[in-house]
Amino acid sequence: MNVQDKPASGNRAASPGGTYSGDHALQHEEPLIFERGRTDVSGVDIPDVEIGPRHLAGLERVGEIGIPGLSEPEAIRHYVRLSQLNAAIDTGFYPLGSCTMKHNPRLGEKVARFAGFADVHPLQPQRTVQGALALIAELARWLKELTGMPAVAMTPRAGAHGELCGIIAIRAALENRGDKRPIILVPESAHGTNPATAALCGFSVKSIKATGEGRVDLASLTQALSSQVAALMLTNPNTSGLFERDMIAIADALHAAGAYFYCDGANFNAIMGRVKPGDLGVDAMHINLHKTFSTPHGGGGPGAGPVVFSERLAPFAPLPLLVEDDRGFRLIEDSREAQPASPFGRMAAFHGQMGMFVRALAYMMSHGRDGLRQASGDAVLSANYILASLKDVISAPYDGSCMHEALFDDTFLKGTSITTLDVAKRLIDEGFHPMTVYFPLTVHGAMLVEPTESESKRTLDRFIAVMRGLAAEAISGDPAGFKQAPVFAPRRRLDETAAARNPVLRWKP
Ligand SMILES: *Cc1c(COP(=O)(O)O)cnc(C)c1O
Repeated sequence: MNVQDKPASGNRAASPGGTYSGDHALQHEEPLIFERGRTDVSGVDIPDVEIGPRHLAGLERVGEIGIPGLSEPEAIRHYVRLSQLNAAIDTGFYPLGSCTMKHNPRLGEKVARFAGFADVHPLQPQRTVQGALALIAELARWLKELTGMPAVAMTPRAGAHGELCGIIAIRAALENRGDKRPIILVPESAHGTNPATAALCGFSVKSIKATGEGRVDLASLTQALSSQVAALMLTNPNTSGLFERDMIAIADALHAAGAYFYCDGANFNAIMGRVKPGDLGVDAMHINLHKTFSTPHGGGGPGAGPVVFSERLAPFAPLPLLVEDDRGFRLIEDSREAQPASPFGRMAAFHGQMGMFVRALAYMMSHGRDGLRQASGDAVLSANYILASLKDVISAPYDGSCMHEALFDDTFLKGTSITTLDVAKRLIDEGFHPMTVYFPLTVHGAMLVEPTESESKRTLDRFIAVMRGLAAEAISGDPAGFKQAPVFAPRRRLDETAAARNPVLRWKP
């Protein structure tokens, strides 16, 4: 990492605000494990082994292997201290727009640790894991019910992986009817993974304009349609936090032109229990279990991005297919066995992220049908509460209410020399994870705030009070407090561009 300010060093003299140790009460300065450990010691006793040069054909290593040796307590402190330097949903408000950082209920954590789920192996005979397969089937049923779609592929490992799955299925369906279509349409406000997925699958990407109110421009879309267009990838609610109202007209236009409708369902949190994408004419949509259904993500766990399919695309869904017959649950892993369907292949070696499936189903079943509907309503209410409480002091680019996230821009900072980035850095000092900044690209200096349904009104009020304070300070004309921020974090302002362009990925002694 490139840091502008040097980390506190252990042997500097105590100064106001400084310490001899370099630590600050419970906030410890923690070096890399290679700097903390010593290569000539080991924290464990390893017995001498009776393997001589004879066994290794003269290839045995004679030098140090360079692995740092630490005692057990040193190793534990190292990792616990690192974990304390992390912003986490379990320590504070994390309004990172488009990421849905909601609380991960402990019920989900508890059931995911049941041995029958946590300790199964994907190569175990299927008759010994009937319960785990039943759980996958039940989760699939809930996903199909919630989306109004007839089929679901459970294996994709993340949202972007789900997009890949959906677009490969669309490509397979086109190939199947002998139709080569080279273009995928993507609205301006799309998540970066959408055009990336289309390009990865060999399509060229054509951008579709947004209207002045932040939604897809239906006229531009219909104009762009032709026999060359394979699909549209549209996010709904979109990344400006707005519901795309023209869904049915869009679906009809696409289908009339022989194209498919891919919906990025990462924002399903705002509509679950209220709208079924199947009713809107969607052909494929990924669902981020790690967003909508509360499974830990970011640094906290792997994602899971199941993809639901319409009748049109279902035959091309990837293996494995999970079926139930009179002998119980069974995975079809061979495409010959899948006939008359023609799966395009497979997305992953095994059957999906089991731990995430358990947590997601626990979330669904503990909420129930009415609870899921309330969760999406509360998520939208929280975002609108923030929007309504701030828009007199912080500029919002679009009129009216929002869905699950509130979008602001930097118009209110005009003439102050303070930027969106400075505001985000000040939030770190205030103990909040910053909102998403500079995304979507369609508004200048975007700040995208997604509070989720799991925050209390008290937390939202604190955030609103902080944001109002920051806005007043910013327009009062004194940028000093912003340009220095963060001052209370373990690291000061990083040179993020240099870190991204020249990442230092290897530690050298
Ligand atoms: C999060 C997100 C994605 C990507 O999901 P990952 O699980 O991070 O791959 C795609 N589209 C939108 C709109 C998202 O918010």
